[in-house]
Amino acid sequence: MTYRGPYRIRVDHKPLPRIEHPADAIVKVTRSGICGSDLHLYHGMVPDTRIGSTFGHEFTGVVQEVGRDVKSLSVGDRVLVPFNIACGSCIYCAKDLFSCCENTNPCSNTVGGIYGYSHITGGYDGGQAEYVRVPYADIGPMKIPDGMEEDDAVLLTDVCPTGYQAAEMGEIQKGDTVAVFGAGPIGLLAAKSAYLLGAGRVIVLDHLDYRLEHARRFAGAETLNFKGVRNPVEELRKLTDGLGPDVCIDAVGAEAEGSFFQHLIGVSIPLQAGAPTALQWAINAVRKAGHVSVVGVYGPTFNLVPIGNVLNKGLTVRGSQANVKHYLPILTEHVLAGRLKPNEIITHRLPLEDIAGAYEMFSNKRDQCIKAVLLPEAA
Ligand code: NAD
Ligand code: ZN
Ligand code: ZN
Repeated sequence: MTYRGPYRIRVDHKPLPRIEHPADAIVKVTRSGICGSDLHLYHGMVPDTRIGSTFGHEFTGVVQEVGRDVKSLSVGDRVLVPFNIACGSCIYCAKDLFSCCENTNPCSNTVGGIYGYSHITGGYDGGQAEYVRVPYADIGPMKIPDGMEEDDAVLLTDVCPTGYQAAEMGEIQKGDTVAVFGAGPIGLLAAKSAYLLGAGRVIVLDHLDYRLEHARRFAGAETLNFKGVRNPVEELRKLTDGLGPDVCIDAVGAEAEGSFFQHLIGVSIPLQAGAPTALQWAINAVRKAGHVSVVGVYGPTFNLVPIGNVLNKGLTVRGSQANVKHYLPILTEHVLAGRLKPNEIITHRLPLEDIAGAYEMFSNKRDQCIKAVLLPEAA
């Protein structure tokens, strides 16, 4: 997959990646997801997304080659590869804060390295390809356990840990009411995780009925279509004793719908870096002293975030790129025990060659698409 500019993607032949450092491995890809985060790249929203780069930060594969320092992997191992590239030894990695790694994206002081996610996260080529170079190969990749399906494994590289961390950052207390904005893959997994962490009620908001239907089926959540109501914040209060949910999770990010004005000046023109509509609703809807958890991706500055309400309501707001590796043990347990079946969100399995069409479909939410997974021919 190569990027040719906003809304333009094509399949190209590029040189095979090689071992560039003794701690590298080369992985032959067997599954690769398209993430809602890739849409921000596809839409040209992310600065320094260079022509010719290869996206893809959710992939599984087979180890093809290892550098001479790699100890924990052998050729032929089946692995899932977390989207964060982490060194494993800096002050952040030592605390399991892998998304903050200090060594894998040294030109930035805001985020660590990520596969296939522009030069802002290090300029690494990603996994929507046949082969990928995996730096720090002893740190990121996890061998896929016996009994785990590859379709579940690929969703452990991003979607599941992100949804789970979103719920965890909400510091859910037993019986709490949790509102999840967005019924995409991340919102669905956040809703499911909220129940796993003890929520009493989960309410998922979106404007796409087919996704809300999936939220009811997959996560057992209540749903609210915000297109059908005059004021989603008021509506949420009505559903929650007039006070608002205990926890609000933003699983939408910078390209939110719901406000013509914000979409116009944040996405269509754009005079600021995106539309923070879902974040605004989350902050305004959550009850006083509640928790707001942000995993929807945002760029730099926004004018329209009601920070005064954060202060006056005494809110706790947390955000993060998911620290994927930290959550793999607990999520592996849930998947192997059958409590979590991530592959139920996959709606499309397509050949890697069809990637341009897959992006177009996912971007336009066509054909009831929720999650598309790509398979290279050799897989
Ligand atoms: P997606 O595009 O499939 O889902 C987003 C959903 O939000 C869509 O269904 C859309 O209709 C809905 N939506 C739009 N405006 C809304 C609003 N105002 N209120 C409620 N819902 C609204 O994407 P996804 O794969 O589920 O990803 C969701 C977000 O999470 C993206 O911003 C993505 O970049 C981000 N993400 C973050 C991390 C992380 O580590 N923090 C990891 C993966 C994805
Ligand atoms: Zn992602
Ligand atoms: Zn590190």
